[in-house]
Amino acid sequence: MLLPSSIWLPRAPLEHLNLDWLTQAHIEVAILRLDQIDPLISGNKWFKFTEHLKAADLAGAKGIISLGGAHSNHLHALAAAGKRFGFPTVGLLRGHPQDTPTVQDLQAFGMALHWLGYGGYRARHEPGFWQPWQARYPDLQPVPEGGGGLPGATGCMPLKTMVSEQLNALGWNDYHGWWLACGTGTTLAGLVLAEAGEHPVYGALAVPDDHGVAQQVQRIVQEAGLVGATYELIDASRGGFAKVDPLLLEFIERSEQASGIPLEPLYTGKALLALKQQVEAGRFARGTRLIFIHTGGLQGRRGFTSQHG
Ligand SMILES: *Cc1c(COP(=O)(O)O)cnc(C)c1O
Repeated sequence: MLLPSSIWLPRAPLEHLNLDWLTQAHIEVAILRLDQIDPLISGNKWFKFTEHLKAADLAGAKGIISLGGAHSNHLHALAAAGKRFGFPTVGLLRGHPQDTPTVQDLQAFGMALHWLGYGGYRARHEPGFWQPWQARYPDLQPVPEGGGGLPGATGCMPLKTMVSEQLNALGWNDYHGWWLACGTGTTLAGLVLAEAGEHPVYGALAVPDDHGVAQQVQRIVQEAGLVGATYELIDASRGGFAKVDPLLLEFIERSEQASGIPLEPLYTGKALLALKQQVEAGRFARGTRLIFIHTGGLQGRRGFTSQHG
């Protein structure tokens, strides 16, 4: 597989996030802009991929096959990486053929697409699922949906160093914790591993509590053999994944205007709103400094706007 000699780790800028409700509470937030790592590849999904790509490379694979929906940030990052580094990618999609902006990008990036229907997609966890695909694409390495698990988390560990290296430029000598949106909790788990108890990691759940995120994080932390993990999961889902409401949309619009930083409603917007609620509830002492991760997802926003009006 044609990968850059040492896996390419782009540096995301770390910037002050200036919002009146933070200033009023005397809390400082720096935002790590994973939405700005590369013109093609955006967000946490690239970092979740890096270990999977290394494993594929070691296994002698020529490219990657994976799964996702018609707005998937995961498939988008994979297709973009394939285009960027010149390796073949195949996407297995949920449902029936749709022409979303994401799907158009996947095609433009050269990803081969197969639509599995809904039943076919539900079968993805069944034992024999990959067999026919591996027979069809023997040179490609399968990567699970979302690029999760310990390899996915390990790929996110360098985010800690990326932030540490930029603290001085920000005028900070330390920080008190991380705040980020969680879907599977893989990215959070990576930070928890990297911190090893040094700073707490707060995960704003974009999915309801019953999605097993806590168990998933627990499993990764245990598999890595870490004791003394410090993290907390906070429900930020506002009634369900992909559910939006007027208060959220208005908050996003005001935050974007005030900060100049684009957000989307499924992850980053919900995570920032949940932070505001916690700050206003007095959760953090004056003088607290937090790192908020902008996990990307802006490409999916296009489909969202056209789909939901
Ligand atoms: C996938 C995604 C997340 C969630 O990442 P996990 O590692 O699954 O918790 C958060 N934000 C955005 C924008 C995403 O695309």
